[in-house]
Amino acid sequence: MKAVTWQARNDMQVREVPDPTLQDPTDVLVEITSTGLCGSDLHLYDPLTPFMTPGDVVGHEPMGVVREVGSAVTTLTAGDRVVVPFNVSCGTCWMCTRGLQSQCETTQNRDQGTGAGLFGYSKLYGQVPGGQAELMRVPFGDHLPIQVPHGPPDDRFLFLSDVLPTAWQGVEYAGVQAGDSLLVVGAGPIGDMAARIALHRGVRVIVVDRVPERLERVAARGAEIIDARQTDDVPEQVRRLTEGRGTDAVIDAVGMEAHGSPAAEMAQKSLRLLPKRLQGWVLSTMGVDRMDALYVALDSVRRGGTVSISGVYGGAADPMPMLQMFDKQLQVRMGQANVRRWSDDILALLDTEEDVLGVDAFATHHLPLEDAPEAYRQFRDKEQGMVKAVFTP
Ligand code: NAD
Ligand code: ZN
Ligand code: ZN
Repeated sequence: MKAVTWQARNDMQVREVPDPTLQDPTDVLVEITSTGLCGSDLHLYDPLTPFMTPGDVVGHEPMGVVREVGSAVTTLTAGDRVVVPFNVSCGTCWMCTRGLQSQCETTQNRDQGTGAGLFGYSKLYGQVPGGQAELMRVPFGDHLPIQVPHGPPDDRFLFLSDVLPTAWQGVEYAGVQAGDSLLVVGAGPIGDMAARIALHRGVRVIVVDRVPERLERVAARGAEIIDARQTDDVPEQVRRLTEGRGTDAVIDAVGMEAHGSPAAEMAQKSLRLLPKRLQGWVLSTMGVDRMDALYVALDSVRRGGTVSISGVYGGAADPMPMLQMFDKQLQVRMGQANVRRWSDDILALLDTEEDVLGVDAFATHHLPLEDAPEAYRQFRDKEQGMVKAVFTP
């Protein structure tokens, strides 16, 4: 089959690789019809490269049609339409039954000291082949895949794999109710969707980014916007909009943006010298520039407010403004989305006539898998108005 493979830093290539097969009786084999390109894939592109092995099949936002099921699978049969969550969770362990699927004890990567396995996310997260491919082996067939009805176009359901549950959890962790105010830092797919979900719940939403067409998209949904290129003090601008107080909560939908920073280059080299166990935590980049979004979040939130971090961070050496965090009495929540925890709630919103979150028109690009290498570059460089690309193998 054809698959998007990591070959080297900033070098993804579509290659012919062996077809996956059923390995365990609980596996299902899925023919992929649509598969998303995510900001998290950009971390693999660069800077998480020390964890990558040339040939790794990437991608973690797939959906498609079941081709084959293992002998122990009882809830799915060939022909069923499914979305595959990005975290590999068993659905039955202590963590999974408490809604902490991102910490699944069956797939935890104890060797690296990381949580549940992730599709297409290197040896750091269990070395599980990803979903930017024509076919995919999905374990835990009775618990992991999300069955969706036939009929509506793929895009109606595709974002259940990652964008929707991540944005949903970001809003849940922000703890905002109707009438509250929320700042969303970053208007990529995650920030955009978090803004939509919060607006749908009656929250006042302000979004900051530095890419004009991304800001226009969220403004069209009803968010107030701040163009970070036009101010050198985003938190001050936020306070000006909120009676000097700051917003009740902030979602950091940026995470590490390490591309091109000299500190990142240095850290990447030094990472190889660390013991394997430590590498999992001292991920890849150091330096202050990549913490920019988090500092904006901590500074913009009101006293007693909540910072909800959806963006992915790595590194143990970052200076955290502890005095400010303690003095402001902040709550901070973060982590990978527990996809399966939220999927039924979200599905209830999607499976209706009215597309309240605007998912049908959320993707800006639909491309053949062959175009993936160019799409990675365009997405990283924010060219061609690309906000969300979907590959159709
Ligand atoms: P993206 O890279 O398209 O979005 C990031 C956006 O942030 C861009 O629009 C960029 O212009 C903007 N930005 C960068 N620095 C900024 C700053 N200082 N202030 C304001 N805006 C800034 O990616 P995405 O797909 O939206 O993902 C966003 C983050 O969420 C990534 O870190 C990704 O890894 C993470 N993520 C986390 C989970 C999870 O489970 N927690 C799941 C998916 C994605
Ligand atoms: Zn993703
Ligand atoms: Zn589990």
